[in-house]
Amino acid sequence: MSNETTKIPQATAKRLPLYYRFLKNLHSSGKQRVSSAELSEAVKVDSATIRRDFSYFGALGKKGYGYNVNYLLSFFRKTLDQDELTKVALIGVGNLGTAFLNYNFMKNNNTKITCAFDVDPGKVGTLIGDVPVFAMDDLEKHLNEEEISVVILTVPAQVAQLITDRLGNTNVKGILNFTPARLNVAKSIRVHHIDLAVELQSLVYFLKHYPNVDETE
Ligand code: ATP
Repeated sequence: MSNETTKIPQATAKRLPLYYRFLKNLHSSGKQRVSSAELSEAVKVDSATIRRDFSYFGALGKKGYGYNVNYLLSFFRKTLDQDELTKVALIGVGNLGTAFLNYNFMKNNNTKITCAFDVDPGKVGTLIGDVPVFAMDDLEKHLNEEEISVVILTVPAQVAQLITDRLGNTNVKGILNFTPARLNVAKSIRVHHIDLAVELQSLVYFLKHYPNVDETE
């Protein structure tokens, strides 16, 4: 995201891609304006939160008119750097990694996995979903040459930290960590952690102990 977003609260920043996706759909169906109530229904965020979020973007909805879809879209495109392609590398071409390589992220946003890495000689040198798989020996070389700033980590947990340490010698600024390992990184690298097993367990726990959704809010 561009520097403009530094003043936006992190909770708001996290909702930007959600708003952006919905507004793009509205735009392609020819809609010029949208009310916070309509947005709220579609993205499942309460309308007071939407109004507060949008006030940070200088988008002040008018009563009885709503928000201008074009204005919001161009704001989001700029803020989310959608005019610029973000190249992503994936490390660990196992079951999960392979699924990501076959998934077309470009459909909804401007990020693209352009290269992948693995230690398995049977995978190195192959193309999966058009993405070349390289050997781990060449990790730093490829990441630097291709100016990769984001890495998706889908390796076994026990090797995650070692690989993360190597990323410190590259231009990588963000890691999407799908391993259960908690990673130590330099301040210049941001890690977002997605542990699917923990998320699933937490959902099952909530279903059991808070079957009524309202209780958890
Ligand atoms: P698979 O069935 O293909 O092994 P998996 O997701 O069950 O998939 P994992 O053991 O989680 O397998 O490993 C994920 C991928 O990470 C595998 O392709 C494996 O070869 C790769 N891998 C293992 N160690 C490393 C490493 N040190 N560096 C890079 N990739 C690695």
